[in-house]
Amino acid sequence: MSSLFRSLPSVDACLRWLEEALPSAPHSVLLESCRLVLDQLREEIRAGRLTDETELRPEAVRPRLLDAARRKDRPRFCRVINAAGVVVHTNLGRSVLAKEAQEAVRVAASGYSNLEFNLETGERGSRVSLVEDLLRSLTGAEAALVVNNNAAAVLLMLDTLCKGGEVILSRGQLVEIGGSFRIPDVMERSGATLREVGTTNRTHLADYERALSENTRAVLWVHPSNYRVIGFHSSVPPRELANFAHDHGLPMLEDLGSGSLMDFSPWGLHDEPTVPDVGRQGNDGVTFSGDKVLGGP
Ligand SMILES: *Cc1c(COP(=O)(O)O)cnc(C)c1O
Repeated sequence: MSSLFRSLPSVDACLRWLEEALPSAPHSVLLESCRLVLDQLREEIRAGRLTDETELRPEAVRPRLLDAARRKDRPRFCRVINAAGVVVHTNLGRSVLAKEAQEAVRVAASGYSNLEFNLETGERGSRVSLVEDLLRSLTGAEAALVVNNNAAAVLLMLDTLCKGGEVILSRGQLVEIGGSFRIPDVMERSGATLREVGTTNRTHLADYERALSENTRAVLWVHPSNYRVIGFHSSVPPRELANFAHDHGLPMLEDLGSGSLMDFSPWGLHDEPTVPDVGRQGNDGVTFSGDKVLGGP
């Protein structure tokens, strides 16, 4: 083993060779690659997986160095082929932007813009005002706000309206989306207390009723975006739940997930409520993603 360790090339030798092979790569990338490969070789010797001295010769080590350096030097974020069978895939960049949206992003990002400048008054403006009236007319909502993503929107909504109080939610809607967005965790972060009611497959109005207390701040509805309960199940229709909330002076809030603005049933996507539907059902606040079905940047 010690003779194997002695046969390891030096960092300097590896670096000199890599600099010749990849002259345009940054020095730090090449140095890190050398250290990485040498660490791996040491580990392999220690573990008894590398026992043959020929594996430490330049012709064996160089391809590994080159591979490590190329991996480190290429962009992390790249195009992939979506063979998942899911068109709007949460992990694969979601919606592809329309040509017009791509062009608008390019134009905005390649120069200065009026993001926070009011061209009429010549004074500081609000970025929210650029889209609020458009969203209002598309959704029928009284007001609208755009934040980083839907997870942030849910957190802000709960923090603003429900902090320090309780929020009633059906156990059938305690969802996890994409591995890191979990309703109970977001709720905890917001400072509101989750009051779960009903069961996984069935929740009735009486369950909500029993959970009411003087600490209740809202009734929440979460769209189960990535799963379906089929068979023996029931939930309270959103309109009925909104009426119930209003009868008790509470807001009905909804995390709608994808947030489509169009009815997709002519294309075979049924039971997907649109944002305007949700408003018509009496909801007081709704959050949704901008990059799923809406297909925005
Ligand atoms: C996707 C989704 C979220 C998270 O939305 P992001 O835009 O990824 O932050 C939250 N809730 C539901 C129901 C979702 O479908």
